[in-house]
Parts: sequence; structure tokens; C-alpha cells
Amino acid sequence: MKKETQLIRTQIPRSENREHSVPLYLTSSYTFEDADQMAACFNEEQEGYVYSRYSNPNVTEFGQKVADLEGAEASWVTASGMAAIFSTFGALLEMGDEILSVQSIFGSTHRLFTEILPKWGIKTTYVAFDQLETWEAAITPQCKILYLETPTNPGVDIIDLAAANAIAKKHNLIFIVDNCFATPVNQRPADFGADLVIHSATKYFDGQGRVMGGVILGSHELIHEIQGFARHTGPAISPFNAWVLSKSLETLVIRIERHNSNALEIAKRLEKHIHVKSVKYPFLKSHPQYDIAKRQMSGGGGVVTFEIEGGLDQGKTFLNQLEILSLTANLGDTRSIATHPASTTHSKLTNEDRLKVGITPGLIRISVGLENVEDIWEDITQALD
Ligand SMILES: *Cc1c(COP(=O)(O)O)cnc(C)c1O
Repeated sequence: MKKETQLIRTQIPRSENREHSVPLYLTSSYTFEDADQMAACFNEEQEGYVYSRYSNPNVTEFGQKVADLEGAEASWVTASGMAAIFSTFGALLEMGDEILSVQSIFGSTHRLFTEILPKWGIKTTYVAFDQLETWEAAITPQCKILYLETPTNPGVDIIDLAAANAIAKKHNLIFIVDNCFATPVNQRPADFGADLVIHSATKYFDGQGRVMGGVILGSHELIHEIQGFARHTGPAISPFNAWVLSKSLETLVIRIERHNSNALEIAKRLEKHIHVKSVKYPFLKSHPQYDIAKRQMSGGGGVVTFEIEGGLDQGKTFLNQLEILSLTANLGDTRSIATHPASTTHSKLTNEDRLKVGITPGLIRISVGLENVEDIWEDITQALD
């Protein structure tokens, strides 16, 4: 089946009630016919449902859909994107191991690398996202994982997945990509060699800003290791959230297509606006990694960043003038969202550190939603004026 059909038609077996839409399995445990069946289900290698911290039909369905979409053998679903990321490191790393990454990663992942994992003797080294020739010198014998996001947040920089994978494979690193910004509709890191792909399902998978979730995708072997850690540490998603997410995937492809076209249109118009100094969007020819983006992505995604004249105060003024766009710390929603990283998500960094990850004082990030593009544009221009 093609991806749209697969996302709509993949479904756990119907119950005896022959429902058309999958019911919500709001149960924390499952019953057994007899003692032998119960004994068999307690063997962890077996598929049967036992307890919802281990597995649940709604969770299974959601995970299966995402695995098919990313071209992965297996998946593990968690309560949030951070639960997916933490479970992955918790399962695969030991004291003394190291991670290679780039600094322009999601804020909480950066905190994990710099404040939490060091408590267990796990160290992270950051390399420059666009200087792959310097990466090998940073790889020590203790390094186990190469961890990347592309497009990056909020810089919308693009990292060459095939080239990064070649370095990872040469040094026996597990190559992990957080694919939340692109979604598998626009980019499939496994096609370029990624061993594990991680998602915050809270963003485009839900797409309507309602529930949280996370997914890890990869080989049976790696997912089995992560499952062993996650089953006993408790980052399980609620069946309700998994049910919402699985339903949301039915519209993922058409939503992403519209996010892509609305964002490209807004990016092109911003480029011509007199109060805008620069615009960054993967599918604009002016993007520094436009060629790489075109090679590894089939759509540019929904996030556009631009820099307005002036600095911190003008950035805040712009947000205050918006009438339709939401001011909220989320992305991937039907509703367009504007944020000013320098005064919010990255306000604790020094000016110098902000510049290292591409955050100038006047940088605005827009998660372009599904409203009519003319309304989105009118709100942006009146605020700029
Ligand atoms: C939001 C986000 C996360 C974390 O996901 P949560 O669901 O909020 O825990 C991780 N990576 C990226 C790129 C994100 O945007």
C-alpha cells in the first residue's frame, strides 16, 4: 500500500462488535483463559497483552503505522519525545560511554547531554553541524552514538544524512536521528542509513496540539534492547493518547503537504519584505544547504525562520502585534505559531552561545499552520509594518 492508504487502513483486528473505527482500550491489564495462557504471556518474548506499561492494542497500532511509514522493522512508543530520547540513551549506554552530537539540538536534549547524562558518567561532545571533516577527530574509542536533528531547531540548518552516516558506520557508532521537524512524509533517515529514528509525536503526528507522545524506530535488535529498559522504567504512553495519535496519522500526509506549501509560500514572501533581513527555509534557493535539503527531503516542512531589523525589542514587538498567530511553545499544529527564541526558549544562553546555534536577537520562528495562507501572511505583514 502507498503511505496514505497504509496510514488510513492499518488497524488492529476488529472486536466481536465489528466497529469501523478502532475503539479505545482503556485498560491497565488483560485477563487470561487459564494458567497456561497466563504463564505463556509472561514470557517477555511473546506478543500477548499482559499489562499496559508493557503494551496495549492502541499503542501497538500507533507504533506499527509509524514503523511502516519510516521503513523500520520495529518501534517502541513512549509518553513523550523526551521519554523516547531518554529511554534510548538509558538502554544503549553505560558509564564511560560518549555521544557525538551538534549543539543546535532540542533544548531538553541539550540539558540531557550537559546536566543529566554526566551524572552517570556519560559525556557528549559537540561538533559543528556543517564541518563534517572535523567530526572524525572528535570520535574517541568510548564514543558509541552519533545523534543528530535535521532540520535543526530553531536554526533550520540541514545536516547531510548520507555523509554523517558514512562517518558513523566507519567508527561503529549507532546513528540516531530525531526526525520530528521533517516527519517521515518529508524525510526518511533510515533510507540514508540511520540505525534509529526518534519522534516527538506531540508535534506533527498529533498535529492539533492535544496530546503528547514519542516513538523510537529501528531494527528488531535495537528496539528489543530499548523495550527491555522502557518496560521496567515506566515511560509508557496512555492508551488514550496513542488512540488520538493513531487517528491523527490518517490525515498526516495531506496535512504535511499543506504545511509544506503554506510554509514555502510564506518563506518566499518574507524574502521580499523590506523589514526582513534574511529568511531560512530548506526549500528556498538561498538556504546555505539547499542542495542537501533537496537531496534528502521531499518537502521543506512547516518551520520558517527569519530575522527582522532591530534586535531583542523589535522581536518582542513583532510578537505583540500578531493578531492571529499563537504565541506558544509548540510547533506542528494546525494553528500557525510564532516564537522569539532569544527572549524565550534560549534566553538563558549567553549572546555568544546563542549566535553559535544561529539565534540572533531578531530571529523569529514561525511554525506555519493550515489556515488559509493569505490570512497567515496578512497577520505577519501587519505585524512587521
Ligand atoms: C518537542 C521536541 C522534542 C521533545 O518532545 P516532547 O514530546 O516535548 O517530549 C524532541 N525533539 C524535537 C526536535 C522536538 O521538537
